[in-house]
Amino acid sequence: MSTVITGAQEREEFRNRVILAIKVMGIETKPCSRCDEPLIFMKTHTGKWQPVDMYLESHLANCPGAGSFRRG
Ligand SMILES: [Zn+2]
Repeated sequence: MSTVITGAQEREEFRNRVILAIKVMGIETKPCSRCDEPLIFMKTHTGKWQPVDMYLESHLANCPGAGSFRRG
């Protein structure tokens, strides 16, 4: 069986590693205006900027304030 990240602790460790990695690479993060999760912004193939959280998932889907997510 392959290793699957399911536990909250593993998820937290993954998150911390991502935070460390983006710090090392000098990538700027901005806190989410709704939940203060640090986000990085990635450009999609359509040229739009997408907020990505420290789990490297789209924050639009994960934000507790999603549904009425608007910036600015
Ligand atoms: Zn958020």
